[in-house]
Parts: sequence; C-alpha cells; structure tokens
Amino acid sequence: MTATRIDGKAFAAKLRERVGATALTFAQDAGRKPGLAVVLVGDDPASQVYVGSKGKATLAANMNSFEHRLPDDTGEEALLSLIDQLNNDDAVDGILVQLPLPDHLDEQSIIASINPDKDVDGFHIINAGRLSVGQSGFVPCTPLGCMMLLTDRLGDLSGLEAVVVGRSNIVGKPMAQLLLDANATVTIAHSRTKDLPSVVKRADIVVAAVGRPHMIGKDWLKDGATVIDVGINRLPPEPGKEKGKLVGDVAYDEASEIAAAITPVPGGVGPMTIAVLLRNTVVAAHRNAGLDAPKGL
Ligand code: NDP
Repeated sequence: MTATRIDGKAFAAKLRERVGATALTFAQDAGRKPGLAVVLVGDDPASQVYVGSKGKATLAANMNSFEHRLPDDTGEEALLSLIDQLNNDDAVDGILVQLPLPDHLDEQSIIASINPDKDVDGFHIINAGRLSVGQSGFVPCTPLGCMMLLTDRLGDLSGLEAVVVGRSNIVGKPMAQLLLDANATVTIAHSRTKDLPSVVKRADIVVAAVGRPHMIGKDWLKDGATVIDVGINRLPPEPGKEKGKLVGDVAYDEASEIAAAITPVPGGVGPMTIAVLLRNTVVAAHRNAGLDAPKGL
C-alpha cells in the first residue's frame, strides 16, 4: 500500500480563505474587524518568527493584528497589567501569549489571567475544563487542526482505535479528548508506556506528538492506519549545509508503505496551527459581539 499524503498545507489554505471571508462578513455586521493581540516577551529568535508570521496571517485574513513585543526583563506585574488592558479592550477578540516565557515569569499564572473567552490558544484551565466536560470553549489549535484533517479524511471516527503518543497539555491530552468526543476508543501513550510498538500497532489512528525524529517506523503500524505526525524535529545539518532537515516523529517514507494516509513534515499539521488560531479568533469575535459564528468553519 502507498499511503495518501494528507495535504495540511492545502487544507489550511482553504480554511484561511473561509476565515477571511467570515471576517469580512463579521466586519459588515459588527462594524469592526475581529482583532487578535499577540504578546511576545523577550527576543527568542524562533518566537520572533512565529509572532511575525501570525501577525501577517491575521492581516491577510481581514482581521486586526495587535503586536506587543516586550523586553526580556519584563516583570510579572507589567505583563499582567497589559493582559488586563487587552481583556478589557473591545477591539481585541483573541489574546495569545507566545510561549515559552522567560524563566522568571510563571506561565500558568500568566495564562490564567487571560479572559477565557479571549483565550484563542485554548490553554486556559477553564477551556481545558470545558473541553473535558464537553462544553463549548476554545480548543488548542494544533490538536483541533489534527482533528479537522482526521474527520476530513475518515468521516465518522466512531469505534476506531486511536493511539495518541504524547500527553502534553497543549497537544496530547486535548487530542485524546477530541478523539474521545468523536467516539474513538482512545489510548494515551507516553515515555513510561510499556511495549509502545505493540500499543501503536493496535491503532487505526495514530497521532504522534513526541518530539523524537523518526521514532515510529513501519513495523509499529497496523496495515491501513491513518497517521497524523505532529512532531517537528530538526536533524543535524548534512555536510556543507547550514541547517538540518525538518522531520516528524514518524519515518514518513517507510510508514507510507503500510499506512493508508499520513501527514508529511513539513506541510502536514504545522500549517494547520496558525489557520486554526485565525479560525478561533473569528469565532471569538462572533461570541464577543453576540453573533452566531457560521457552522462548518
Ligand atoms: P512535550 O515535550 O511537552 O511532550 C512530549 C510527550 O512525548 C510527553 O508526553 C512525553 O512523555 C512523550 N515522550 C517523550 N519521549 C517518549 C518516548 N520515547 N516514547 C513515548 N513517549 C515519549 O511536547 P509537545 O506536546 O509540546 O510537542 C510534541 C511535538 O510536537 C514536538 O516535536 C513539537 O515541536 C511538536 N509540535 C508541533 C506543533 C505544530 O504546529 N505542528 C505544535 C506543538 C508541538 P512524558 O509525559 O512521559 O514525559
């Protein structure tokens, strides 16, 4: 079997188009554009790039982007005061604090200070709780993006065996929750799981969110499995090259021989994350304005 390549980049581009069109209609109805505020503390180069690309994508989706770049030595009080200001700003529908924060800031208490109804990253404990009990809130962007790719590919997930490898609060746990809500039979595996290959081999759906290059090979997979590779790992550079290749947690080429469908890295889950962030922001704008967000976004 040669697996179908699940084209997250193309799916994300279509989602961004739908979000952009929805934002235009929202602006006509509400008399203002949806707005996303992104807060970056410090000068971590990767975070600078992420924040820059989120800003561009927000503008391209017909929304306002408010960037707040603060120095590395920003204190907790100053950061909490900015978040308070954004919580109370009617032009701001979504607030994202770029992680990781510098060590002197406590991520949990900073995230907890965001109004849950503006927490478009879905990291607030209230949104984690809402997801856990099946209430509507904001779901973290990466797992929600994975879920969109899975349902687009498989339709009804009822009764399918799903194994999520990784149990982080931002990927593994919400992913498992979403699969459970979709009536899959879910196993969450992690670094202490015994005989991981045989656990993964049971799965009709494998979601790999570990951060170990090419950990999952073809021998771990069931014939015809659908594989979602969240991992982003940079290999050491080849001789003469400045940067190493980006690869996932799954050995793509060999896994393709046995899986029915698989996401590539790059071009699979990665592009979905920003697209879902924009989607969550336009949904937040509707809720904040007391309007119904269009179904199927
Ligand atoms: P974390 O480091 O927070 O979590 C990694 C998880 O993998 C942990 O639960 C850990 O288990 C588990 N793990 C580690 N080693 C093993 C092992 N040998 N066998 C089984 N499980 C193992 O990572 P994140 O969840 O934040 O991210 C995971 C990957 O996804 C990373 O590569 C990251 O870069 C990528 N990512 C990609 C995004 C995208 O947009 N595509 C967005 C977010 C993340 P334990 O809990 O026992 O330690």
